Amino acid sequence: MTEKMRAMVLENLGPVESNPLKLREIDKHQIQKQNELLVKIEACGVCHSQLHSIEGDWKEIGLPPTLPTVPGHEIVGRIEKIGDNVVRFKIGDRIGITPLMGSCLNCQYCNEGKEYLCENMEVTGESLKGGYSEYITISEDFVTRVPETMTSEYAAPLFCAGITAYKAVKAAEPEKNKKIAIFGIGGVGHMAIQFCKVEGCEVTGVSRKEKHLDVAKKLGADNTFVYLSDQEKFLDKLNDEYGLFDAAIVFAPVDEVTDTAIKSVKKGGTVVIATVGKIPNFLAFEEKTIRGTLIGSRKDMEQVIEISEKNNFQVVTETFPLEKANEVLQKLKNSDIEARAVLIP
Ligand SMILES: [Zn+2]
Ligand SMILES: [Zn+2]
Repeated sequence: MTEKMRAMVLENLGPVESNPLKLREIDKHQIQKQNELLVKIEACGVCHSQLHSIEGDWKEIGLPPTLPTVPGHEIVGRIEKIGDNVVRFKIGDRIGITPLMGSCLNCQYCNEGKEYLCENMEVTGESLKGGYSEYITISEDFVTRVPETMTSEYAAPLFCAGITAYKAVKAAEPEKNKKIAIFGIGGVGHMAIQFCKVEGCEVTGVSRKEKHLDVAKKLGADNTFVYLSDQEKFLDKLNDEYGLFDAAIVFAPVDEVTDTAIKSVKKGGTVVIATVGKIPNFLAFEEKTIRGTLIGSRKDMEQVIEISEKNNFQVVTETFPLEKANEVLQKLKNSDIEARAVLIP
């Protein structure tokens, strides 16, 4: 008889209020290739991107690519079995998995250390291999070791929110006293603030919600501004009370926010778009730079673990049992999660 495992399965897209994730017993993943690990999942973060793809907001960009899927792409677990050719890990080691499940390791992108841009990349949580379940298998080449000093619920959000924040801050070219604004303080934004502080930047948190700005302040933001949909009012207030930024990083997947961020930086400044989004308005003669970023490489992931451990980063999490995934997504939708929710199977 095939072994089974519990998983929250997405069979049809729909609003999270309709409980689109169903608790199912599906076949437990088994090692298929000799370089694979079988991992018993201990924690999986709930990323904002799942909310959008589950509700069908991103159908036009092909997300999710198939159904059914088991969502979830920031995973920490312990290795339960290893394939015969595994060399870097042993049974019992604890590892983490990012949204990048695999790539060809052979193309130009892969050879340049930008394997997350590989045309043949596989994405965690866009098949039945996702984190909202008890087990997953993955090649040993695409996991990162988690130090025993970190709990699994602390480490899990580092594997999407953490690496996304790290890469976006790097793209903003941080340096001492550079004025950087973070638009959107949630799971990703709260870590971006800390990466900026490590670099000595003067960082400003921008969010619609006071509650999120309090988190930003607690984590070391030098300033905060409440985001206003009335762009003119927001920019006037910013100019009166602070002035323009050298760089802005946008984590809120709303084009209107990106537009405001572009107008909030000085001429020659940089705007990093670290979410799905288009550029609404761009005046070439202001010599601004707009950069897109997407997760990061395996090397970046190792850096994230190292920096967070060394600097005692705070990862603000709330844990919930796996079965509560729908409720958690509803809370996320209503901005009732302070920073990051983590599911425990
Ligand atoms: Zn994510
Ligand atoms: Zn490749």
